[in-house]
Order: sequence, then structure tokens, then C-alpha cells
Amino acid sequence: MANRVALYPGTFDPMTLGHLDIMKRASRLCDKLVIGVAINRDKNPLFSLDERVEMVEYVVKPFRERIDVEIKPFEGLLIHFVEKCGASMIVRGLRAVSDFEYEFQMAGMNDRLNPDIETVFLMADPQYQTIASRLVKEIARLGGDVSQFVTPEVERRLKDRYT
Ligand code: ADP
Repeated sequence: MANRVALYPGTFDPMTLGHLDIMKRASRLCDKLVIGVAINRDKNPLFSLDERVEMVEYVVKPFRERIDVEIKPFEGLLIHFVEKCGASMIVRGLRAVSDFEYEFQMAGMNDRLNPDIETVFLMADPQYQTIASRLVKEIARLGGDVSQFVTPEVERRLKDRYT
């Protein structure tokens, strides 16, 4: 399994404990983990690209004791980015049936574009299964407590943003 590179792409707007759990678990499957932060202009993210990268940067420090971790912004076709990173697998988290259809289609299309790259799905941990960045933002915007969904650092950023 020498030099197995995995790419975990996402928008991470903001990063949640669900994302963090997938990062942790993915880091055990490879020698190098690239976390791709999608620029995703269409999604109109709440946090800037730099902020989203910083949020991820903040939590990956412990993984770096074991494996090589890189955080890279990206734009354009995912499969081109995977190839550029030299990754052999794309890691995605699956929460519910609602994630399945989209992810299934994406994995199928990416396989057609480059059959050497495998998409690996990690089932969301039951305790994080219902966490979605979109809902976390909604709760924070309405003044709710998001401490059980995100790290204290992300919670602070959400508070700053909405007050
Ligand atoms: P994208 O715009 O690529 O869907 P997200 O940041 O929303 O970006 O999600 C990135 C990946 O993390 C996706 O594979 C998504 O299914 C997964 N994910 C999101 N939230 C969770 C969670 N709570 N538990 C496990 N996986 C998750």
C-alpha cells in the first residue's frame, strides 16, 4: 500500500464533525490524504475559500503525525484534479439514501472518465449522520446552538458571521 494517495473533495462550508470523521477514517486508508476544497462559486459559499481552507487546516494537525496531508483548493472537473494530485481514489461520505443517487451517478461518470480511479464511500457514523453544513448554517443564523455539530473553532466563526 505504499504511496497510496486519496482525495477527499468537498465544499466544507463550513467543515462539520461529520466531515472530520470522514477525514480521520480516510487517513487510515492511505499514505497521503489530499483534502480538496472546492471553490464552488455556484454554491455561493458563506465562508471564503481561505476561511474554508483554514477551518480544515486547523483540524488536520494530528493526522500529520501519521500520514502526509495536503489541503488544496480546486476548481473545474474533479477527475482532472484527481489526476493532478496523483490520487488513486476519491473518498466520499454517504449519509442517507438522499446522498446515494447523486453520489452513485458521480462515481459512475468519473469511472467512465478514468477507470483507474476508484470512488470509495464511507458510511457516515450514526452520531454524525444527520449533520449537514446547510442546516448548521441555518441553525447558527437563527441563533441556535451548533456546538454538537462543529468544532469550537468553527462555532466561533459562525457566531462571528451571524452577529
Ligand atoms: P459537496 O459540495 O462536494 O457535496 P460537502 O462539503 O457538502 O461538499 O460534502 C463533502 C463530502 O462529505 C460529501 O461526500 C458528503 O456526502 C460528505 N459529508 C457531508 N456531511 C457529512 C456527514 N455528516 N457525515 C459523513 N459525510 C458527510
